[in-house]
Amino acid sequence: QAKQAGRNGMRFFDQQMQDTINARAKLEEALRMAVEQKQFELYFQIQVDQFGAATGAEALIRWIQEDGSFVSPARFIPLAEETGLILPIGDWLLDTACAQLKRWQNDPKTEHLTLAINISAAQLHQWDFCQKVEECVESYGINPQRLKLELTEGILLANIEDTISKMQKLKFLGIRFSLDDFGTGYSSLQYLKRLPLSQLKIDQSFVHDLVSNNNGQAIVSTIIAMASSLQLDVIAEGVENMAQRNYLEQLGCSRYQGYLFGRPMPAAAFRASLSQCL
Ligand code: C2E
Ligand code: MG
Ligand code: MG
Ligand code: MG
Repeated sequence: QAKQAGRNGMRFFDQQMQDTINARAKLEEALRMAVEQKQFELYFQIQVDQFGAATGAEALIRWIQEDGSFVSPARFIPLAEETGLILPIGDWLLDTACAQLKRWQNDPKTEHLTLAINISAAQLHQWDFCQKVEECVESYGINPQRLKLELTEGILLANIEDTISKMQKLKFLGIRFSLDDFGTGYSSLQYLKRLPLSQLKIDQSFVHDLVSNNNGQAIVSTIIAMASSLQLDVIAEGVENMAQRNYLEQLGCSRYQGYLFGRPMPAAAFRASLSQCL
């Protein structure tokens, strides 16, 4: 009996593994096509200050398949990173984001906004990454102070010397850096001190724990204290309700991003959502 069950268990496991491998291969194939045909769109999510006024936006990539269905970046960005497809995607992203920022700068409604884009490790560590960014900023004629690059702690640990030297080069041009998903990695204060950052971004998992859970409160307080001792600004992501927002404000965080203020949306809808505030 047991032997029988074991065999069946094994067969079941094999089948599941095979299915996973097949699904992955299919997704990779589709992603290659998507890169060739540029089946991507940038969505924009508002960032606000303590008065609810827009200070900027984060660009979030969307893969829109031929049939109109969406694939979440949480699903395809890791695959893009493993396969190297993140490099052409990153080039597209940089160009598209800079083009958008240029449009914003020519529009009184949006000229003051910053635009944050997510940068993957492989992108940052390309030998010509700084040149790519500089060329893009120059060719669109955008104000580099309005461009913010979001890095995660994982990137920093991968190759700290290269990271710091690239960050310094780009900072010299006026570009700023935000440390995304902060608190989920392992960076020590010692590390952070060496990085020319301008912002820490509190990960949404801590924001979600904030109201219900003492741990969440302690972590957020610690992050805010770190930011203040390093003279960085701090923004919270994933803010979904007023209770969270008010708690954050009490703890000293006065920049917010999350569904409470706006969902990620296409550029035109984003602009329209702003005019309601004015
Ligand atoms: P992230 O950079 O931490 O982005 C925040 C994610 O939280 C976004 O998911 C956003 O839609 C979601 N979010 C925003 N507000 C709320 C909220 O109030 N509640 C909840 N539950 N979620 C909220 P999204 O767009 O699915 O992106 C997921 C991740 O994919 C991003 O996390 C980022 O790591 C990556 N990603 C997205 N776009 C790009 C890109 O253009 N390049 C790279 N390299 N990575 C990207
Ligand atoms: Mg981000
Ligand atoms: Mg984040
Ligand atoms: Mg996150």
